[in-house]
Amino acid sequence: MVNSTLMKRDLKCEVAYVLIGEHLDGVWLASMKWRRRGAPLSVEFDWRRVMEREERSGDVVGFLHTHPRGCQSPSSRDDATMIAWSSCFGKPLLCLIDDCTTIGAWLYDYRQNDRIRLQKIKRFRRNQLVIIE
Ligand SMILES: [Zn+2]
Repeated sequence: MVNSTLMKRDLKCEVAYVLIGEHLDGVWLASMKWRRRGAPLSVEFDWRRVMEREERSGDVVGFLHTHPRGCQSPSSRDDATMIAWSSCFGKPLLCLIDDCTTIGAWLYDYRQNDRIRLQKIKRFRRNQLVIIE
């Protein structure tokens, strides 16, 4: 577990980041990029920008969003969205959920149509994360 990324002003809204990085031998390196804020349950990514980034660089490794009401498990909407993105990109993707206390990590793979929870996550300076399968 790793401490929340949230600041006090974020507690009433959802915050989302795109995770840019790489994956090698069960280790994920991810930078939190393109912060967005929105009303609870409604924050949206700039989907076109995400698609363009993946097509150009192939380095989108997932998404981080908050659950300001404190539930760390992915919602059914999160499940559907993550499986769709994993299928669209043709690769596994991380879903990190910050519940205002800690960050939980899940790995979605469209080929299994399922998620697995990852237990080891560390946060470094400049919004860099390392997640180990
Ligand atoms: Zn969610």
